[in-house]
Amino acid sequence: MRATTIHAPFDMRVEDVPDPVIQDSTDVVLRVLRACICGSDLWAYRGESARQPGQRIGHEFLGIVEAAGSDVTGFAAGDLVVAPFVWSDGSCDYCAEGLQTSCPRGGFWGSVGSDGGQGEAVRVPFADGTLVKLPADAASDDHLLTALLALSDVLGTGHHAALGAGVKPGSTVAVVGDGAVGLCGVLAAKRLGAERIIALGRHTARTDIARAFGATDVVAERGEAAEAAVRELTGGQGAHGVIEAVGTEQSMRTAVAIARDGGSIGYVGVPHGSGTGLDLSVMFDRNIALRGGVAPVRAYIPELLPDVLDGTIDPSPVFDLTVGLDGVPGGYKAMDERTALKVLVKP
Ligand SMILES: [Zn+2]
Repeated sequence: MRATTIHAPFDMRVEDVPDPVIQDSTDVVLRVLRACICGSDLWAYRGESARQPGQRIGHEFLGIVEAAGSDVTGFAAGDLVVAPFVWSDGSCDYCAEGLQTSCPRGGFWGSVGSDGGQGEAVRVPFADGTLVKLPADAASDDHLLTALLALSDVLGTGHHAALGAGVKPGSTVAVVGDGAVGLCGVLAAKRLGAERIIALGRHTARTDIARAFGATDVVAERGEAAEAAVRELTGGQGAHGVIEAVGTEQSMRTAVAIARDGGSIGYVGVPHGSGTGLDLSVMFDRNIALRGGVAPVRAYIPELLPDVLDGTIDPSPVFDLTVGLDGVPGGYKAMDERTALKVLVKP
């Protein structure tokens, strides 16, 4: 089969690799129908997180089960399924608590020895604890497939941030980050009943999506000017909940500054950079809570899926460029240069 591999920073290739086969009785092999490129894939692309030459890549995909191991009970050949961005056994304490990202037998797609999602097929370990079945007729609905793909990462991650920010009906929420996760944070906050949603961003193509997802206000300024603008919009108090979806010191500093005293920050931006941007004494004085981390999207898919299926929420606008497998290296370049927000891959 063919799959995307990373050989060095800025060196993505699509190569012939061995076909995935059932190795353990709890495995499934699935044929990828839709995959995509994630903002977090760019850290490897830019060389900011190390990869071995030839390593697979991609952690967001859905597809058709081609084969199932003898101990797989939930899935059979022909099933349409979506995969969360990590696999998990579904049987340990963490999985039982809905924290599949801490599953001791879990793993990250594209880690050494595993398949990545930006290819024609994937071997899925612990299929019963990992995959979620989708309605068969969705396979022929191109638009719905695109929306469903967001369940593998960005929609669940946006939801995780909104929960961490303590969003509830009537809340005022501010969202730091206008990438696909930040935009899905707007969608998630709206779904949880936020009354006012302030999106921080200055690319109109993106803030237009934020408005379509439910943002009531857009702040284009950055840094202290953004802090002042949010305070201006909130009667000087700040937002009850803040979604941080970037991971830089600056974005975390802004998040603290625009939070209301007693408010909560839901952070899902993969932290990078030397410091955190957090000043605990400020958070202490103002009783600001911080909650979040890598999102256990497997726990959220059952709740979010019905709303995607009936169109209550439609995250598909975050995908603004579609490529075939051969177009994946170009897709990385487009996202790196911010000429594309999120690239959809049709292998
Ligand atoms: Zn587990």
